[in-house]
Amino acid sequence: HQATKQPPLPSPLRFSKFFQSNMRILVTGGAGFIGSHLVDRLMENEKNEVIVADNYFTGSKDNLKKWIGHPRFELIRHDVTEPLLIEVDQIYHLACPASPIFYKYNPVKTIKTNVIGTLNMLGLAKRVGARILLTSTSEVYGDPLVHPQPESYWGNVNPIGVRSCYDEGKRVAETLMFDYHRQHGLEIRVARIFNTYGPRMNIDDGRVVSNFIAQALRGEPLTVQSPGTQTRSFCYVSDLVDGLIRLMEGANSGPINLGNPGEFTMTELAETVKELINPTVEIKNVENTPDDPRQRKPDITKAKELLGWEPKVKLRDGLPLMEEDFRLRLGVGKKS
Ligand code: NAD
Ligand code: UDP
Ligand code: UDP
Repeated sequence: HQATKQPPLPSPLRFSKFFQSNMRILVTGGAGFIGSHLVDRLMENEKNEVIVADNYFTGSKDNLKKWIGHPRFELIRHDVTEPLLIEVDQIYHLACPASPIFYKYNPVKTIKTNVIGTLNMLGLAKRVGARILLTSTSEVYGDPLVHPQPESYWGNVNPIGVRSCYDEGKRVAETLMFDYHRQHGLEIRVARIFNTYGPRMNIDDGRVVSNFIAQALRGEPLTVQSPGTQTRSFCYVSDLVDGLIRLMEGANSGPINLGNPGEFTMTELAETVKELINPTVEIKNVENTPDDPRQRKPDITKAKELLGWEPKVKLRDGLPLMEEDFRLRLGVGKKS
């Protein structure tokens, strides 16, 4: 006896799209540094409902405390390496430890987060027809042989080094994004984020800006890892979040570099922090870690042309904004 074929039931997503005009947005890794600032910005729009999925590895509920209990906000303890079944219209997929000391702590888990986590979020996006944005990284360029780095540069990455779980992991995540786009027609967005700084950075994450500010406030020497001539370009978090939302809302899949092209050596950064925050601290040279990229600066021509985006906050203006937050969290009083 052959069962008669039933027409498919409308999915809950199609139903709710019919009855409501709210945009349901999932932010994975939303309890982290960039994610929580993104959530703040998304929540400003009353048409947005925001769902955060985070396993709290490097993030914290504290970063979201002002939204807990809000009717348009939901927080789920969830590890993206496990499948997630919810109904959403957009996915900002940020979940992944971003600081070298955290992503090297359990490298296999970092790869799983990048590969299986991204695969799951793509499976979810495919099932519900959501647009998905991946926060990839300038680390996909490795130790770059082209300077500054345009999106067309394929990179110089060590596949078996201690950073590979992160940079090769993100490269596979990008590949998955483009394969789901080509094979299944998914609407994708890929951002390649360069070093970002601002309030709520993890104080002990070992990154250079958070280290220098915490050291300056504690009156400890600023640790410049040798040679000190290596460069980075630092983007203030509010500028970055603005770029992510423009990319999501725009028509271009990317990849698009998001970063501040102002380039500084680590010695210059230490001198700037010393001057602005604590002129009495010493600057000392310490040993570096393997595979440290010698220079990094984004070419943001594409972001300017396609998103009308460029950073507004200069390093000298952004550092003091971060200082206030670090003073509060470290319990260090105001300058007299
Ligand atoms: P972060 O560590 O503050 O935030 C990452 C968040 O993801 C944390 O809340 C963490 O708990 C969560 N997370 C980690 N693994 C998870 C898992 N398996 N399941 C669920 N949640 C998980 O880092 P961030 O600086 O806010 O970075 C956010 C994203 O931006 C990351 O994807 C990172 O690779 C990317 N990015 C950041 C920078 C930067 O300078 N901060 C630069 C390039 C790219
Ligand atoms: N997935 C998920 N949520 C969904 C749909 C899928 O987490 O709503 C996961 C699913 O468990 C799978 C992955 O996403 O591991 C990829 O799903 P897809 O349907 O693309 O592939 P398949 O399940 O056919 O391997
Ligand atoms: N760095 C430093 N002192 C520190 C921490 C980092 O001089 O206390 C240097 C590090 O060697 C690298 C740069 O700062 O050249 C940026 O390091 P970070 O870990 O912040 O980011 P990433 O290497 O991922 O760009």
